[in-house]
Amino acid sequence: MRTASELRTLLARIDGRGYPAYKDLRGDYDLGACSLHIDHVQGDPFAAPSRMRVRVSMREATLAPELLSTRARRTALADLLARRVRDAIGGGTRSRGSGKSGVVRVDAGGQEVLERTAVALTEHWIEARLDVGLPAAGRRILGREAEALLCSDLPAIAARALVAAPRDAEAIDAFVGCIENQEHLRAQLPEHDLIAFVADGALLPRESGASDRPLRGAEVVPFASPERLRVVLPLATPVPGPDGPRRELTGLGVPRGVTLIVGGGYHGKSTLLRAIERGVYPHVPGDGREWVVSEPGLVKIRAEDGRRVERVDISGFVRDLPGGRTTRAFSSDDASGSTSQAANLVEALEAGASGLLLDEDTSATNFMVRDARMQALVRAEHEPITPFVDRVRELYDALGVSTVLVMGGSGDYFEVSDTVLRLRDYHAEDATAEAHRVAAEHPTARRREVAEPLRPPPARVPLAEGFDASRGRREVKIDAPSRDAIRYGRQEIDLRGLEQLVDGSQTRAIGHALHLAACEWMDGETPLAAILDALERRFDAEGLDGLDPRHRPGRHPGAYARPRRFEIAGALNRLRSLRVRG
Ligand code: ADP
Ligand code: MG
Repeated sequence: MRTASELRTLLARIDGRGYPAYKDLRGDYDLGACSLHIDHVQGDPFAAPSRMRVRVSMREATLAPELLSTRARRTALADLLARRVRDAIGGGTRSRGSGKSGVVRVDAGGQEVLERTAVALTEHWIEARLDVGLPAAGRRILGREAEALLCSDLPAIAARALVAAPRDAEAIDAFVGCIENQEHLRAQLPEHDLIAFVADGALLPRESGASDRPLRGAEVVPFASPERLRVVLPLATPVPGPDGPRRELTGLGVPRGVTLIVGGGYHGKSTLLRAIERGVYPHVPGDGREWVVSEPGLVKIRAEDGRRVERVDISGFVRDLPGGRTTRAFSSDDASGSTSQAANLVEALEAGASGLLLDEDTSATNFMVRDARMQALVRAEHEPITPFVDRVRELYDALGVSTVLVMGGSGDYFEVSDTVLRLRDYHAEDATAEAHRVAAEHPTARRREVAEPLRPPPARVPLAEGFDASRGRREVKIDAPSRDAIRYGRQEIDLRGLEQLVDGSQTRAIGHALHLAACEWMDGETPLAAILDALERRFDAEGLDGLDPRHRPGRHPGAYARPRRFEIAGALNRLRSLRVRG
């Protein structure tokens, strides 16, 4: 390892020279308080910034060893340290010349806490992975600016963010304890036959459609559970409460089975469902939804017309189409609202979903309902669609897949629901008995329209030939221009239909996970579900560092956050060149 004074000498020597001379910086430096590892040097000041790591020893960091004792704690701690690095960098990284000169970035998270590569931890050291713009005026190296950046700013960031001052200990414990408590609550759902828990006092609404931060103000109504559905769940570690430490939380337990959320427009139905959707991930303290936890296998299902579908058996929801087209292996380059929603549902089951979340706002009406009058006017033999209302019970009774459904517009779901929650002015009420009474007193003349029992989806085998990641001269070129899009080779994958994808670094990880899966496991025989299992085992064993095919161990791995298997499958299923057998 080279010394700080060697780094200074080097920078003085290349000061004023052309930008490529920065390449000499590659290597490892001992800067005293931290070590600096320059793994990749950008080609010019306008290119993607250079990749560096700053590392401090665990001894220097003075973190309590218990913080590292479980996987959940390590994930939470690494997530928190990335946020601390972002704070230490500060909002206005000072420009030190042209292009990205002086930029320092870390890939820290938003409201959700995810396993990510931005900070790595071992029992010996902590490391932050940074993107750093090496300073230049035009294309001339600014050696002094680079010296200030590398020899002063980066060590200061490392010292402030990665070293736990005694006054930080409490906040670090609180953050890690909060995430651990969320995992503890989530782990208790199965034994209580619940698929979600929404604690009393949770603040569900968000600032705006564009912001995931909590809505604040006197008009926000904290969540309160209706008594019949109230459960009490113990916490792993006590949290401060208004009347001293709290060792347990009370709140709504959403039972397995079919749950309907009803209520007038604008009374908070979609907001509650969204919180349950996001509850598959832990949230930062102060989010308002940190005590909303859901089973990890819940998948939001929506209509998504225009998407591509590759040989999905949607026959349980859409029988043969006009012209005799089969729907047992339905393909389309431009699926309709109802067929896209059916495909989304069947694909979720194929990937192993344990529960489905649907909102009337984002569903195709003809997929959801077909009332008695329409049954009389358009006879069943002329309607290929088996509406969801005729399958939702069977999904649970035969396949064990629960549903939470927001439906303010049709009472046809009353008789097929186990639980009916009514929202009134953002207050949740148990309307189960009332809804069942209404169903009995106002029978509809509608008939259940099913030709055949629902079957679990047949396994499909994705073929590697559909996964060409090459672009231009690069054999593998995959990037994520936004959270909702992957550029995979020369193709764009549109992910706007995946509402539980929360972080652009998950999107990036999915892009590379598809390539990894194609290279390693798509042998023409392995079904999709087994490929997803293999990916998860790989992530469990090795983390996400190896996702970039150009990555070398001990180098900056790039910015990845862990995606769920459902969003990986979701991207695969939306790749327009996907080909499957089976
Ligand atoms: P619905 O789906 O019933 O039509 P939404 O969930 O879309 O209603 O909520 C309507 C509006 O009310 C949104 O702007 C949302 O942010 C706000 N809102 C939702 N829940 C609450 C709450 N508990 N307190 C205050 N405002 C809320
Ligand atoms: Mg709504």
